[in-house]
Amino acid sequence: MGPVEIAARLIRFDTINPPGRERPCLEWIAGLLEPAGFTLAWQELGPERANLVASLPATGAAARAPLVLSGHVDTVPLGAARWSVPTQEGLIEGGRLHGRGASDMKSGVAAIVAAAIEAASWRDRRVELRLVLSAGEETGCEGALALAAEPSLLGTAGALVVAEPTDNRPLLGHKGALWLRLEHHGVTAHGSSPELGDNAIFRACASVARLREIDFAGVEHPVMGRPSLNVGTMQAGMNVNSVPDRAALGVDIRTVTGQTNAGARALVAEVVGPEVEIETLTDMAPVYTEPDDSWMAETRALAAEVTGVSAGAETARFFTDASVLKSAFGNPPTLIMGPGPASLAHQTDEWCDTGAIEACTRAFAAIAGRYLA
Ligand SMILES: [Zn+2]
Repeated sequence: MGPVEIAARLIRFDTINPPGRERPCLEWIAGLLEPAGFTLAWQELGPERANLVASLPATGAAARAPLVLSGHVDTVPLGAARWSVPTQEGLIEGGRLHGRGASDMKSGVAAIVAAAIEAASWRDRRVELRLVLSAGEETGCEGALALAAEPSLLGTAGALVVAEPTDNRPLLGHKGALWLRLEHHGVTAHGSSPELGDNAIFRACASVARLREIDFAGVEHPVMGRPSLNVGTMQAGMNVNSVPDRAALGVDIRTVTGQTNAGARALVAEVVGPEVEIETLTDMAPVYTEPDDSWMAETRALAAEVTGVSAGAETARFFTDASVLKSAFGNPPTLIMGPGPASLAHQTDEWCDTGAIEACTRAFAAIAGRYLA
C-alpha cells in the first residue's frame, strides 16, 4: 500500500482529541508493520488510547543506537466553521488529500510507515529502526510524556525525525513553550466602598505591566531569535458592583535554546512578586540541533536532494513531541520534517499535497537507508 493510500485510511479513523481514541488507528498501522517484521510494544493510556513503539531490529549486531521516526495520530477538533470537503473520508481529489489530520499529521505518519515497510525489505540493516507513534500530542504531548516516564519502552536513539508539517522543509528544531496561570488574590468588598477591599484585577494589571517589560535577560538565539511572551487570558470579577478578590492571567512564553523553561518561570515569579501564585500548565523544552552537526548536515542535504525542497538555518513555529522525546532519548540530533503544509495545521479544509507525501516517503527511506547501512 502506498503512502497516500495509508494517509487516506488514517484520516478515516476518528482520532479527534479530546477524547483521542487513537488505539484503533494505531492497531491498523500495527497490522501493516507486524507482518513486515516489526516488533510491537504498546503503552496503554486509557480506554481506546495507547502509544505504539514498533521496532525493526538490525539484521546483525547493531552498529549504533537506533534511528527513530516519530509522529502522533491524534488530531485537533473540527472547529465551528463549515468544511467545504468531507472531514474524515480521506478524499483524494485534484492531487490533494483532504480532511482533518491531512496536514497535522497523518500524512507524516503515513510517510514514516511506508518508508519503514520499505526498510524492512532490505537484506542488510546494521542498525535498528524504531517508530514511536504517539497519542495525545495535541493536548500537550501527553503520550510522549507517558513514554518518557517509561525509559525501558523508549530506549535510546542515535537520531530522531519528527514528521510534523513543514512542507517537507528540513528544519533544525523549534521553540519551547511555557504556559503559566498567574493567580492574584485580593479582598472583596462592596463596589461602593472599594477602599475596604483589595482589588485583584488591579494586582493582575500591575503584573501585566511588568510582564510587558520582561526581556529574559536579553537572551537571543542566532536562529530562533528572541523568546516571546503573550498574555492570552484574563479571568476575574463576578459582578460590576463588587471588588474582585481573584484575577487569573494565562501567560504563553515561547522559549529558545540558551534559556531553560525553569529559568523563564523563575524570572516571571521574580517580576510579578511572591504574592502571585504560579501554576505551570504546559512545559515544553526548545528543540535545536546545530546545522553543522554531521548527521543533521548530511540528512538535510539528502532530504533536499530527494524532495527538491531545502531550508536555510530555520526552526518551526510550533512545538512537537520532540520537546519531550529528544531529552528522553539522551539528546540525539533531531530533524523536524513532514509533508503537510504548516499553514494548514488545525485549519478548516485541511489538506496535503499527495506528491509531497510521496516525496517525503522517499526522503525518509533515503535517510533510513543511509543510517541503517
Ligand atoms: Zn501535530
